[in-house]
Amino acid sequence: MTQTQPAALTEEQIRDILRAVDDRFDAQVAFTQDLVRFPSLREQEHTAQDFLFEAMRERGFAMDRWKIDIDDIRSHPGFGPVTVSYENAFNVVGTYRPETQAGRSLILNGHIDVVPTGPLDMWSRSPWDPAIVDGWMYGRGAADMKAGLAANLFAYDAVRAAGYRPAAPIYFQSVVEEECTGNGALAALLRGYQADAVIIPEPEENMLVRANVGVLWFKVRVRGRPSHTREMDSGFNAIDAAYAAMQALRKLEAQWNGQHRCHRHFEHLDHPINFNIGKIEGGDWPSTVPPWCEFDVRAAIYPGTTADEAREQIEACLREAAASDSRLGGTPPAITYTGFYAEGYVLEEGSDAEHTLRECHRRAFRSELQSFTTPGYLDARVFVIYGNMPTLVYGPKSLDIHGFDERVHLESVRLVTKTIALFIAQWCGIDTQAGRI
Ligand SMILES: [Zn+2]
Repeated sequence: MTQTQPAALTEEQIRDILRAVDDRFDAQVAFTQDLVRFPSLREQEHTAQDFLFEAMRERGFAMDRWKIDIDDIRSHPGFGPVTVSYENAFNVVGTYRPETQAGRSLILNGHIDVVPTGPLDMWSRSPWDPAIVDGWMYGRGAADMKAGLAANLFAYDAVRAAGYRPAAPIYFQSVVEEECTGNGALAALLRGYQADAVIIPEPEENMLVRANVGVLWFKVRVRGRPSHTREMDSGFNAIDAAYAAMQALRKLEAQWNGQHRCHRHFEHLDHPINFNIGKIEGGDWPSTVPPWCEFDVRAAIYPGTTADEAREQIEACLREAAASDSRLGGTPPAITYTGFYAEGYVLEEGSDAEHTLRECHRRAFRSELQSFTTPGYLDARVFVIYGNMPTLVYGPKSLDIHGFDERVHLESVRLVTKTIALFIAQWCGIDTQAGRI
């Protein structure tokens, strides 16, 4: 990788690039709406990926599209166990290559997968109808993170339209599986994509992520003993036992939250560790004492704690609960790992990439860039921990991501796109002889 620092942009270059973002913003919004119309839920990402493939191919990028092969990534420590088919799990990467390379290379990454909608009758309109109301674009995935995927492409377009060619390779990545395992980003890393910096425009309220948590997904299965309800006491109720298991996990959650002052960038957060019981099933019908119950958990861990270490503590917690709480019947529940098995990361301060982002943000927003710690999972952990790349998670203002009526603030998207466009020009350098397109 080349590490030449390009010359600072001139005032004229900055003005031209910012104006080019404005000139194309209506087209960018329309493109984002097109992307939101694809219901790219897990196992259904392929049509949206085909759409992005075409959009990148039209820009003249060298195209790479591949189905995630679990065998390629299974042995990696960042791999998350898979419980679904990867038949439609394609990653797409478009590569821009300059004729001669002078500057620093860049990955512009985003994820195409979106989270489940929940009951449709609780939305104001279809989650796949990207209506614009009062400056906000609605829709599942509008903020998380199709606006960001579009911003990556239109930031590049603005640099080209202003008459410049980036002087270093840029890899435009659209990956799957960010919301459940992180295996899409991992597959992209293991396919060989490396760069001098990475930007991921997740919905981060116009701020830079300094640190985040790791995440584990697991399923807890409790076994009971069925009986007729006339002699209910002779049975053992797996649903009641599941509540006891959840209470034990809540104690572990409280214990981990109690340690927040010992973790850099988490000192000021009272409750960064969230255990979410996201799904529960059990029993067969009302008149039999239920012989089974299982529930799915998403648990957070601090950066610096490995998934293996967290797993040991979780399993010990449930083993001890089974030994001490009669409601669990003496048998520890069975645990299976069903998705994320991921460490968190910290973005070390003082990198050239962060410095460049600060400068570009200042020019786009006319304010100072703020950074913060987020208690959610981010694919950046793949690039930071396993790729050793400075990774900037920075993106637009949103509301109700993962909820009903998810939406993204369009003026914020415009300014974030300006920041990314300036970053491309400043980080990669620009060839001013290339002429306008
Ligand atoms: Zn996201």
